[in-house]
Amino acid sequence: MKVNLLGIKIDAINMEETVNQIASYIRTGRPHRVTTINPEFLYRAQFNTELRELANRADLVTPDGVGVVWACRLAGNPVPERVTGIDLMLALVERAASEGWRVFLLGAAPGVASEAATRLSLQYPGLQIAGTHHGFFSNDEEAEVSRLVRESRPDLLFVALGAPKQELWIDRSIAQTGAAVAVGVGGSFDVVAGRAQRAPGWVCRLQLEWLYRLLKEPARWRRQLVLPLFAWQVVREYKIKKFPPET
Ligand code: UDP
Repeated sequence: MKVNLLGIKIDAINMEETVNQIASYIRTGRPHRVTTINPEFLYRAQFNTELRELANRADLVTPDGVGVVWACRLAGNPVPERVTGIDLMLALVERAASEGWRVFLLGAAPGVASEAATRLSLQYPGLQIAGTHHGFFSNDEEAEVSRLVRESRPDLLFVALGAPKQELWIDRSIAQTGAAVAVGVGGSFDVVAGRAQRAPGWVCRLQLEWLYRLLKEPARWRRQLVLPLFAWQVVREYKIKKFPPET
């Protein structure tokens, strides 16, 4: 089931159901797009019709983080749990190792995707890595990158170019890559390759992951400004407009 948040349809399913849904996409062999949507994307999409349409064209849209789960609850359209890019990627890789799906990692700085692939192969024996490629290629090189991916015959393609670049790339290129499923996973390769750290479990439980990231990567403060703006958008749309002041 899809629920509406600020005009974007989000799938109200948990992690296990998401992985099962993606498995069914892979069985069809036809191209499917998966977006893990975060508050920053949702906020920007309010002012950008193209982004909104892009998200609504995806086959599956998952709530990437507690902020989106909170917003859906406030909107009266709850989703069962957060399904973040990194968690989804790890759950899919585990399933890929047992199902024999071929996996391609596209994105991040040179060397990061291959390092992530090496670590994943060690952690999930039997995992078939179809190939890897960094994410700093020009528009002119796009066709060549799609060709490389296609020749490696992947079932599942993880794209880590950051949002919304990865969603735009997936939208225009998935058909050329031959992959049955492409998932946008943001900075996940950096985490898997050990170049960036995830917040510890207790920080996540206290819902303070945003503060942890801000302290670790202070340069992100500008991007983090979007979080209170997003919260205000949600409150205004679902609490204030719902009960307009009497005239
Ligand atoms: N990246 C990339 N190509 C680009 C821009 C960014 O491969 O042209 C990578 C970058 O190296 C990083 C990821 O995309 O690994 C973006 O990470 P971030 O945590 O910013 O993701 P977001 O929060 O936008 O999902």
